Amino acid sequence: MSRFLSPKYADLTPYTPGEQPPAGRYIKLNTNESPFAPPADVLARAAELTRPGNLYCDVTCAELREALAAVTGAAPGQLLVTNGSDEILSYAFMAFCDDRAPALFPDVTYGFYSVFAAIHRVPWEEIPLREDFSICVDDYIGRPGTVFLANPNAPTGLLLPRGEIERLLRADPDRVVVVDEAYIDFGGGGESCLPLIGQYPNLLVTRTFSKSRSMAGVRLGFGAACEDLIADLNAMKFSLNPYNVSSPDQALGRAMLEREDLTAANCAEIVRNRTLAAGALREMGFFVTESWANFLFVRTDAMSGEGIFDALKERGILVRHFSGPRISDYNRITIGTRQQTEALIAALRDILSQEG
Ligand code: PMP
Repeated sequence: MSRFLSPKYADLTPYTPGEQPPAGRYIKLNTNESPFAPPADVLARAAELTRPGNLYCDVTCAELREALAAVTGAAPGQLLVTNGSDEILSYAFMAFCDDRAPALFPDVTYGFYSVFAAIHRVPWEEIPLREDFSICVDDYIGRPGTVFLANPNAPTGLLLPRGEIERLLRADPDRVVVVDEAYIDFGGGGESCLPLIGQYPNLLVTRTFSKSRSMAGVRLGFGAACEDLIADLNAMKFSLNPYNVSSPDQALGRAMLEREDLTAANCAEIVRNRTLAAGALREMGFFVTESWANFLFVRTDAMSGEGIFDALKERGILVRHFSGPRISDYNRITIGTRQQTEALIAALRDILSQEG
């Protein structure tokens, strides 16, 4: 830290992203990306759609929002596109949280929430998950504040039924509930809250192109909500970075949305590999949460979480270990291709046989 950093940031703990080693060094199962690259036809189509680079990008992302409207059923005016969903989440902390409305989120959830709260200097409270890592909405009802729920939650993978979120939305129509659906496409789509945005003016749903749509490196996310909430979020965007989504990124998003068939097939393959991995790991004696995401959250009595992490890394497989309270015995393992999944299973068998 230099002597020039404002003291107001002195105790900021920035988010620690998962390791991004040079391509090909590991079987990379640590940051929940898709193992499937966007196909060549998407890239070619995006090149066709890209606005000339000498002109500023479309600040409203009009054509991409039109395409998203067709895919999601939301109206274009109920959508805001951002630089990854992290950006819209950041706007939501700015726009909807303050001393009267502290941010409320589970104690075990996406690690960026507390960082957003800290950088935007809003109070926050972590609400403990139940013993089995489930979210109980009664723990939020009657407690004032803006609620942030990842659904499915990360890193647990557990899905909260939509009916429970509706109960939360109805219990207090005067507070905003943000549902972060980064991982909803891996089997949980039927429980998405996106179709509810017309019904609940206090609901914001966020989504990303980084997982099911294979574009983590592109940086595209979006939010869906009633037009008033979108206007508030746009006020944040236009006060910080109106040109937040580059022309090539807007074009890539549009081209990828023309291949929803491929996205669906990729998600189905991830779900198959998740079932295979979860079954094999349970057979080996792992405890595996009921994941609805493109990752598993696992622990074993045979070895520490860190021990498993290190042993996998030695065998060329990178997963994610968190050292936080309640979860230090666990590893979060991204679901990859069939071949990567088989390599993971073989490596874990080998590790446990050497332990035993
Ligand atoms: N929400 C959750 C729960 C996540 O795990 C992530 C990414 N790891 C994000 C949001 C943000 O993703 P992105 O900014 O790539 O859209």
